Formats: sequence, structure tokens, C-alpha cells
Amino acid sequence: MKMPKLSVKEVQSHDVYWLDPTATVLEAAKLMSDKNISSVTIEEEGRPIGIITERDIVQRIVALKKDPQKVTCKDIMTSPMLTIRPDAPLVDAMQKMIRGNVKRLVVIDDSFRSMGMISYSDILKVSPDLLEILSIEVCSDEFLADSFSGYCARCNEWTEHLHESEDGEFLCKSCLQL
Ligand SMILES: [Zn+2]
Repeated sequence: MKMPKLSVKEVQSHDVYWLDPTATVLEAAKLMSDKNISSVTIEEEGRPIGIITERDIVQRIVALKKDPQKVTCKDIMTSPMLTIRPDAPLVDAMQKMIRGNVKRLVVIDDSFRSMGMISYSDILKVSPDLLEILSIEVCSDEFLADSFSGYCARCNEWTEHLHESEDGEFLCKSCLQL
């Protein structure tokens, strides 16, 4: 089977839509509807800290009959999130999604700023074979140990590799070793 040579940046969306963690879910829903997008990044101090998808709004607000004007993005966002670099091969992005059980990754640049998103369906559109290639692989349980990105709960540095401590806090590598 031929491995596709495309990288994330050739397939990702380059639109960057984000909201503050304090924005309401109603604002998130309006933004998604206005821009015709299915997910939005939540950012703090210029760096992504989480993601909200249409599905989150349906499952965590609509289905539970909560008021989207009273719930903030911070309350329902998935955080920390999985990220990927624009130069990464598509196969890496797909692997990350499958192992992390998510359908989207936030694409980040060298200064950890969000540059758009890449979704499962974006990838399948350009290379439908990829799923077949990956389904043969055995998933590693250790993958998720340091795959999340976000601010360290202790030193507040943004890192691509958060580790979950025994207390359930997400920490950078140096804080984890303290
Ligand atoms: Zn830290």
C-alpha cells in the first residue's frame, strides 16, 4: 500500500476561530453557526487550552436541557486537548486522533499559537486509504501519557506534553518530577 506524503498544513483548515474560556456556550454556538464550522478553540493568553465541538454542545447542553446563556465554554470544553504541528505527516495526525479517540486536532506553530484545525474527515477526504493502514497497527496504551497540550497546572507554562499526575493534575515534565 502506498503511504500518502501529504502533511497536516496541506489539509488543515487555516481559519482560526477562538473564544475566551468565559464566553458563554451560546456565543460559541453563534460563532459556529455564523462561520459554518463545527468546532472552536478556547484560548487563554494567546494559547489554546481546549476545544468545543457541536457534539459537546448537543451532549452537554441541549440533551441535559441546560441554558447555553448560563454555561461558559470553560465548563464544557475538552481540556487539555491534542495538538499537532503543521509539518507533521497526515499519518501522524490520524494516529493521534485514533489513539486519543478524538476527531480533531488543534494545529499549533512554533510559538504554540493556534493556526487552525485538522479533522478526521479532512484527512479521509484526501486519503481514504489511511484508515486501513492504521487499523492494522496495534494501539499503544502508553501513547496518552504525555500527548495532551495546554498550560501546566503548577508553573503555568504552556507545553505540548502534559503528563497527568497521580492527583489528576496535568503538569509539565519538570513539575511532574518535583
Ligand atoms: Zn510545570
